[in-house]
Amino acid sequence: MTAERTIPAPEPNPETRPFWDAAREGRLLIKRCAACGRPHFYPRAICPFCASDRTEWVTASGRGTVYSYSVMRRVPAPYALAYVTLEEGPTMMTNIVDCDLDAIRIGQRVRVVFAPTEGGPPVPMFRPE
Ligand SMILES: [Zn+2]
Repeated sequence: MTAERTIPAPEPNPETRPFWDAAREGRLLIKRCAACGRPHFYPRAICPFCASDRTEWVTASGRGTVYSYSVMRRVPAPYALAYVTLEEGPTMMTNIVDCDLDAIRIGQRVRVVFAPTEGGPPVPMFRPE
């Protein structure tokens, strides 16, 4: 048996509120820059590539691949911290859940799931497809 892991509530701010509102509806949002066309994550008001403020929200497919990961074992409820590269291009720091932690592989295809938090919006995590 492993302990249940509790996830602290994220604290939305004006820049990230649409992201968390969408998470409540089970949608993963990223931002795309209307000036240079490149998507990014985490969501920022200013494009990290060209500094334009013409960034817009887009709904991501929720599919991606494991870019790297590390299994945290020295905690009551072990979990996998990972970077997942989304189909749209950006890479996000997340957790891989709902699977055997020893079976996770780099390059593995994963899909977003939303994990409940303690009184806040759910956070996007990924499970093997
Ligand atoms: Zn840009």
